[in-house]
Amino acid sequence: MQSTLTEFVQLLGSRLVSVCAKYAPWVVYDKYEGPLCGGFQRGTLWEQNEEITFSFKSHSGTKNQREKTQVLMEELFMYTNLTIVWVDDDRGVVRISFNDYLGSVSEVGTRCRKVRDIQVATTNLQDIAPYTQDPNDAEAHTILHECGHISGLIHEHQVPERPQYFNFIEEEVQEEYRLKMTTQEIHRNITMVLHPQDLENCSRYDCLSVMGYVHLVSLALAVPSHHLVYLTRYPIPPSLTFEGKGTRLISRLSDVDKAVLTLNYARRKPHPKAPDWTISHAADVLGITGELREKIVPAEDARDIRRYYTKWSKEQMETPRS
Ligand SMILES: [Zn+2]
Repeated sequence: MQSTLTEFVQLLGSRLVSVCAKYAPWVVYDKYEGPLCGGFQRGTLWEQNEEITFSFKSHSGTKNQREKTQVLMEELFMYTNLTIVWVDDDRGVVRISFNDYLGSVSEVGTRCRKVRDIQVATTNLQDIAPYTQDPNDAEAHTILHECGHISGLIHEHQVPERPQYFNFIEEEVQEEYRLKMTTQEIHRNITMVLHPQDLENCSRYDCLSVMGYVHLVSLALAVPSHHLVYLTRYPIPPSLTFEGKGTRLISRLSDVDKAVLTLNYARRKPHPKAPDWTISHAADVLGITGELREKIVPAEDARDIRRYYTKWSKEQMETPRS
């Protein structure tokens, strides 16, 4: 009975004026015609040890929305040598807004710099409750996922290895999302698998990554203000894949997420709040062994660590998993 009700609610949700945060028209912000997008997108990584200015858009976000965002974004950056410097509204290279009609979207990595008009946000977070203190699972997913993009991470379901796990039924996906995106956008954001050449480096497909998509279903019911009431949230539905496999809501960084952040932006010492995340531990998590591990672990220069990791990643991509 419960599952029938859940299915009914999901069906109802998908047929109403639902707004899927992930599939809303992000092109509002993004003129880039390449893939939106865990791997890291080539050419979008920040310099090692860079200080990146973050701000909110003026008049956007309540105190609680801003605080939840700050805490979780700093948590993700804890695994990198990058520093977030919060500056006055509209002044950051990264500018965050909380528009509930624009979806949760972000420029990837250093592409934030290309949005020069300070009136335009580089990142929008939708559906962050304005008056609650602690982020719920869906909010944590949204904030960490978009912050992952800011660091340069792409969508996990678009990494080259994903088809070994599940494959989208293109027509079903197109039908599911046709009211939210164009055919081309659906392909580019969901079903397209990126070529290794588009990636700086890439881990194996990680179904626990916060960089996977989550499909939010919202129902515009009982709306005292413009904030929608969410009755259910679900990940990529299994019905959209040939294998009947979907994804689930991930509201925290996976170990692989932490490991790839650690190796791309290697800190000399782990952050005090994440003392276990040494280079050696990150290499263990990813299963890096042999000669490249011997180079990665003792390397002092973060640029060398990224370079060796990239080389290892390339070798992995060229070696089919047995
Ligand atoms: Zn995304």
